[in-house]
Amino acid sequence: MAYSQLRLHPGRDYTLRHGHPWVFSGAFRSIPRDIPPGAVVDVLDTEGNWLARGHLNPANSLAFRALTRDEREEIDASFYARRFARAAALRALLPADVTAYRLVHAEADGLPGLIVDRYDRWLVAQFHTAGVERDREKISQALAQAIQPEGILARDDVNARGREGLAIGGAAVVYGDVPESVEIREGAVRYLVDPYHGQKTGFFLDQREKRACIAELAPHAKSLLNCFSYSGGFALAGLAGHPALRTVNVDSSAPALELARRNYTLNGHDPAAHAFIDSDVTRYLQSAAAAGEAFDMVILDPPAFAKSLSAKEKALRAYERLNMLGVRVVAPGGLLLTCSCSGGVDSAEFETAVRVALARAGRMAQIITFFGPSLDHPTLPGFVEDRYLKALLLRVL
Ligand code: SAH
Repeated sequence: MAYSQLRLHPGRDYTLRHGHPWVFSGAFRSIPRDIPPGAVVDVLDTEGNWLARGHLNPANSLAFRALTRDEREEIDASFYARRFARAAALRALLPADVTAYRLVHAEADGLPGLIVDRYDRWLVAQFHTAGVERDREKISQALAQAIQPEGILARDDVNARGREGLAIGGAAVVYGDVPESVEIREGAVRYLVDPYHGQKTGFFLDQREKRACIAELAPHAKSLLNCFSYSGGFALAGLAGHPALRTVNVDSSAPALELARRNYTLNGHDPAAHAFIDSDVTRYLQSAAAAGEAFDMVILDPPAFAKSLSAKEKALRAYERLNMLGVRVVAPGGLLLTCSCSGGVDSAEFETAVRVALARAGRMAQIITFFGPSLDHPTLPGFVEDRYLKALLLRVL
């Protein structure tokens, strides 16, 4: 099969040659008007040497995303099946008692624009780009064949679709059947997931190794404050490590807190013995500090403050303020796990915001661990645009 060929301006082949998966529109000599959004094209350097094959969207300044560096590889159903097998082989390294994980993490799994999360026997997919949207049928069929799930749900309620000129919609079953609620396991902990309406694809799979870390450290703590708790993930991990832990969950979403209560019951913890507070976290932290409350473990896992570079300065001020308030309720010698999922804020900037917060709160701290990519959320060398999630585990003195 012959694909349209696009040439780059001189000197614009460097990043692609070094494994970066993106080319912006300005790097091309020209983009023919008749190429439809999402078409597969070949990219050549200025001398005509073949570099990569991938999806083109002329409507987006981020115009090209590489699928393969092998000129012989066609982008057909068997290409997708090979990619899924490769992605599944990495996740096979996870412990057997983990039944939910990200199966396909877009660019880092050689499939730009495609997210696939596995919840036990079901898959939830997000098609972020015109390229994968165009191949939706092919991809769904190859996924069904390669992974053999009982059902696949597509979640089209993703803002990124708008930037690609795609409709933002709801959830649709694209293969088999998908239940309203799925029970997953992460080691000793069980969680209920709503694949149709839950946040993201239903669960924050990208926090697994942090939850495991909290479970490991919990036996030394008496209390845990879980800010932005969603379905109770971090608190339940803490309880798995220390069933007598006193936990407080704070979230501004009543349905999230209700799901958290159900998850407590599912794991044999009486919700009545714990706190589920429907509140803005800032307001809660202010009143907790005023009341002189302190916790041995505090989790700060807010939603993204800056998905883009333009929102960065505002986001950094928000991290400083949130962390300053959070630090104030950590007991002396207690632990603070502070996270940022803002793509526009890098790890050094986030650390600076945390440092400013500590200084303002008048506390010193030791950094115990940095968290970044993980086994089912890999990243590519040099692909810094991908590093949305970072977290620091601190001991606050
Ligand atoms: N820690 C969770 C994921 C957090 S997602 C986990 O590991 O599963 C962010 C959560 O913050 C969402 O549940 C959202 O409802 C909540 N939220 C957003 N803004 C908030 C605010 N200002 N105060 C309290 N909760 C907020």
